[in-house]
Amino acid sequence: MSEFTVLIVDDETLNRTLLTELLRGESRILLAKNAKQAFSLIQRRKPDLILLDILMPDMDGYEVIRILKEDSQTREIPVIFITSLDDPRDEEKGLALGAADYISKPFRPAIVQARVRNQLKLIHQRRLLEELARIDGLTEIPNRRHFTQVLTKEWRRCQRQQSPLSLAVVDVDHFKAYNDHYGHAEGDQVLRTIAQTLQKSLHRASDFVARYGGEEFVLLLPEMEAPAATQLAQSICQAVEALRIPHSRSPVSPWVTISIGGTTEIPPAVHQEPLRDFFDTADAYLYEAKRRGRNQVCWGKAH
Ligand SMILES: [Mg+2]
Repeated sequence: MSEFTVLIVDDETLNRTLLTELLRGESRILLAKNAKQAFSLIQRRKPDLILLDILMPDMDGYEVIRILKEDSQTREIPVIFITSLDDPRDEEKGLALGAADYISKPFRPAIVQARVRNQLKLIHQRRLLEELARIDGLTEIPNRRHFTQVLTKEWRRCQRQQSPLSLAVVDVDHFKAYNDHYGHAEGDQVLRTIAQTLQKSLHRASDFVARYGGEEFVLLLPEMEAPAATQLAQSICQAVEALRIPHSRSPVSPWVTISIGGTTEIPPAVHQEPLRDFFDTADAYLYEAKRRGRNQVCWGKAH
């Protein structure tokens, strides 16, 4: 399990030392003595597991976990609470806030090691399952891994037939502001609704849509020329705005909108795997669509 990074957050030096001794050799250890240091390390080092003290002077563990669970970048990181509080209601509160487990002080070495090991094993298993799965858990459309496989296959097919392949990258406009204002449960619902709208907009069997990650989706349109693909992308933009999902924090529209960047290419016979460039080109046009004010399509060729 040494491929894992564990962050220990505790204001008492003795506790940090004891826990480090117990877990050294099992994983890489990061140490923070308060919430501020913890957030900085979480952002920079992306730990796999967090051991979090409840009683700390600057911000208590409950508040820390609440913030972690509200951020899509950190909400999946399991947290084990460290508690010296004997009241079982504190355990309840921690677990209700989304803690994966708890350890009570004074530490019993075998218990600490077993609980950490259990969590690391779960993380390991979850990652294996995610690798195997081809469907995104939230939106139930194909995931990024599935997309990568289909892209490779379609690229080769279009290369053999010397036919055009169109790729669009879709991003929800001001989605962070949406989540901050409406909460991430509503944000998740928006992603599901948009996924369905994208899926309904594609009519040919070979057209493919996937969630690329976060609020980003991709559309793969084999044997479709740039004008037709651009037109389709524009109709998708309009279809999403027509859903009239209120977004009071968006400067673009009163409703949730999307931006789309895309590119069309006949895969050149000389190159074997220029897939990265192909994706980057579509992504660059997405950036251009954002720069021009969002809620629009930007389509073009590689420079
Ligand atoms: Mg403490």
